[in-house]
Amino acid sequence: MSDAPQLVVAVDRVRCIGSGLCARTAPADLVLSPDGRAAPARPATEGSAELTEAAEMCPVEAITVRDAATGELIAPAW
Ligand code: SF4
Repeated sequence: MSDAPQLVVAVDRVRCIGSGLCARTAPADLVLSPDGRAAPARPATEGSAELTEAAEMCPVEAITVRDAATGELIAPAW
């Protein structure tokens, strides 16, 4: 079992404009739903450089990555 922190990804589906950038950048953690908006691919993740990049590059800042235990914002770095 890994000691890596468990992170939770959230997508503000009101903000999301369905660009698909995040799903292409971090397909293990973000997918495009049938309605054309992004959604987390799994309930929790250990995170990755790609996930951080996806959160940073979202044009409408719809993605947040938080520590599941503390709620601390991990990405994007505002
Ligand atoms: S990058 Fe942002 S706007 Fe584009 S699909 Fe992902 S969450 Fe939506």
